[in-house]
Amino acid sequence: MTTVGILGGGQLARMLALSGAPLGLRFLVMDTAADACAGQFAPMVVGDYRDESALAEFASRVDVATFDFENVPAESAQWLAERIPVFPNPRALAIAQDRLAEKTMFRELGIPVPDFQAIDSREQLQAAVEQIGTPCILKTRRLGYDGKGQFRLRSPADVEGAWQALGAQASTVGLILEGFVAFERELSVVAVRGRNGEFRCWPLTENWHVDGVLSASLAPAPVDAALADQAFDHARRIAKSLDYVGVFALELFCRDGVLLANEVAPRVHNSGHWTIEGSETSQFQSHLRAVLGLPLGDTRMVGQACMLNWIGEMPAAEPVLAEPGGHWHDYGKQPRAGRKVGHATLRADNTAELVAVLGRVGQGLGRMEQVTPVIARLQEG
Ligand code: ATP
Ligand code: MG
Ligand code: MG
Repeated sequence: MTTVGILGGGQLARMLALSGAPLGLRFLVMDTAADACAGQFAPMVVGDYRDESALAEFASRVDVATFDFENVPAESAQWLAERIPVFPNPRALAIAQDRLAEKTMFRELGIPVPDFQAIDSREQLQAAVEQIGTPCILKTRRLGYDGKGQFRLRSPADVEGAWQALGAQASTVGLILEGFVAFERELSVVAVRGRNGEFRCWPLTENWHVDGVLSASLAPAPVDAALADQAFDHARRIAKSLDYVGVFALELFCRDGVLLANEVAPRVHNSGHWTIEGSETSQFQSHLRAVLGLPLGDTRMVGQACMLNWIGEMPAAEPVLAEPGGHWHDYGKQPRAGRKVGHATLRADNTAELVAVLGRVGQGLGRMEQVTPVIARLQEG
């Protein structure tokens, strides 16, 4: 009986546990919150990731450890890796959790990135805004997610406001200024690399964000095969350079037909949720297979899929459940503004069918604004 330990007990850990059940796997989740939603399906160790006795208990009860949460302190990951197998490795985690380190790595690998500069002081911010130009975005280097820890500067006059908002964090989590990319589309590569170096990608996904939070994903992204191949090639080089094991996502902006790397998420990713019903092997089961050294599974898609995120509170399930290709995921979380509480995946055999399904679901839920950009993209081909 193999027990997989997961650091972080959110919906990603929950979906990992659900996808691992048919493989006969057991799970142990560690989280700081006793009511973490993965705890509904797996036993838990509740404790701070920096607490050595909690980590030691976790380590003693699992065969291998992985992450649902990219911001586990790098030292805690290292401490565990000295005692049990940990995938992805702590160095990959450390690079992916620091926007400056990951953008530096992208650049070293020859992958285009938005302009960026590390910011340590107000004077540096002023100078960097002049150099990079506006609009631009000041972000915390570490600990940001769902667009949190970011300030958008429309003009140089916003330097004061940006520093007021985030300046105090320059000495704790660090800051980075990035040029604002007026992208045509946002794309992501969800990929998996095995312990033996075998590498596979799911079809490229197009994503729509609202207020910095993922709202919808469409797969396959309607783009040229050459652009998709370039995205896969970037992901392959990143995975190799990090000696990565498991699933990760590479978020990309496409501007004037050129791909710019935004960030890498060292874990299963929200833009890969559609793989549960839309592909031969889901990102969740593939991640477990990779971490355990098992055959990875086929990433081939079945038809086309659109995932819609439910933020804040769950809508009515019926309009989705009434669709033959409609799939419902309720994470069992308490509603809270801005919180990811569930998602739906709509699968169809062709574009016309997916457009029709999205129209019915958007109408049925009174959420046309969420499906309209996806329908427009599908119709533009
Ligand atoms: P995630 O939940 O994906 O981890 P995050 O908090 O790490 O989010 P980012 O991915 O950096 O944040 O930004 C969230 C979204 O904000 C992006 O997906 C994109 O829509 C927008 N954004 C971020 N940086 C830029 C940029 N430099 N230019 C244009 N848009 C950006
Ligand atoms: Mg992120
Ligand atoms: Mg992101």
